[in-house]
Amino acid sequence: MAKLLLIDDSPMRPDLEAALRARGYDLTVVADGQDGLREARADAFDCICLDLLTPTLHGFELIQLLRSTFSTLRTPIVAVTDKTYNTDLRQALTLGADAVLERMAGQEPIIAAVEEQLAAVRVTFWGVRGSIASPGPETARYGGNTPCVTVSHGRETLILDAGTGIRRLGLVLQSEARGRPLTCSLLVTHTHWDHIQGFPFFVPAYGAANKVDIWGPRSLTRPLEDVLRGQMNPEYFPVALGDMAARIVVHEIRERVFDVGPFKVQHAYMNHPSITLGYRVTIAGRTVVYATDTEPFGRLLGQVAPTSVAADVHALDSRLVSLASNADLYIADAQYVSSEYRTKAGWGHCAAEDAVSIAHEASVKRLALFSHDPMQDDDAVDRKVSASQALAAALSPESKMVVLGAREGQSVRL
Ligand SMILES: [Zn+2]
Repeated sequence: MAKLLLIDDSPMRPDLEAALRARGYDLTVVADGQDGLREARADAFDCICLDLLTPTLHGFELIQLLRSTFSTLRTPIVAVTDKTYNTDLRQALTLGADAVLERMAGQEPIIAAVEEQLAAVRVTFWGVRGSIASPGPETARYGGNTPCVTVSHGRETLILDAGTGIRRLGLVLQSEARGRPLTCSLLVTHTHWDHIQGFPFFVPAYGAANKVDIWGPRSLTRPLEDVLRGQMNPEYFPVALGDMAARIVVHEIRERVFDVGPFKVQHAYMNHPSITLGYRVTIAGRTVVYATDTEPFGRLLGQVAPTSVAADVHALDSRLVSLASNADLYIADAQYVSSEYRTKAGWGHCAAEDAVSIAHEASVKRLALFSHDPMQDDDAVDRKVSASQALAAALSPESKMVVLGAREGQSVRL
């Protein structure tokens, strides 16, 4: 049963406590904010339910502290308040609570919010930049780390790609484990540097009690494990792959559909130099498609193909459409905009317009524009996102597809 921490000293707490116990949750209850923080840091909880008026540490401060600590960064927080000011409710969400409820509305909405958090599938972006890490004031809002994304449900996490964003994720996973052995599952799309170069800095790979499973495609000339080993040759890095203390197992993907723990994974080959996979991940009835580093056949070949084969060229992109079909979230290569693409045709990436058109054809619910070009500063990404939203609305005025620009640190709840 899910483990819950209730931090609450309201005179109305006994009702909430009784209602949560009646649902069979493994419940820890404290009345004081400082005690709550200590409990939350000491043990892993599936959800923290906290009152905004706890003594010694106000709920706002408590949320801030929980969100700035690696071990509780990802724990769902449901805030409850006896107050009814809209500004307070909004503030709790801004600080990082996942839901906020007025206690006067009764126990049922609070319990429903807790259940919703426990059932949710979350996608978190740890690195969203294509090609090369590009930190700096110009990229501070969307982030400068290269690709790394997680799909999580409960305590299960699947990692997609090991760009430089995986470094911070590793610190979070290690803190969440609180000294216990950790098993990590990583799917790599391909072995271009920007998708693997964070791995040597993935802290869980250095823990002797840990295990790291890595799945990916075989390279053109060498087994996947050799390629990963190669980037840690002594010429490039002081620690060899084999000297990392964790048990590291590399799997080359052969099956069209396979399971990684509770995650069901399908793949398709992308149109990108070297062997590159796009993934369709399903868990708890939700589907996330991660198809970065691909170039539309229609746009690339359409310029050179004779008219007689133009339809066939477009049909080549239908494989990507079927991979993304009806996804709850489609994380798409959108490295360029059309005007930038012209000088970069054949580099293996999409323009955002292509991502919108494929997402539209695939009837996805949400589209995350991903793999931002290092030359795009935050304002340029803003413009790319706005133009893509306008294009999506023009393609289908009645469509409810949400278009967002993937931002480092952002979590999307499906
Ligand atoms: Zn690539």
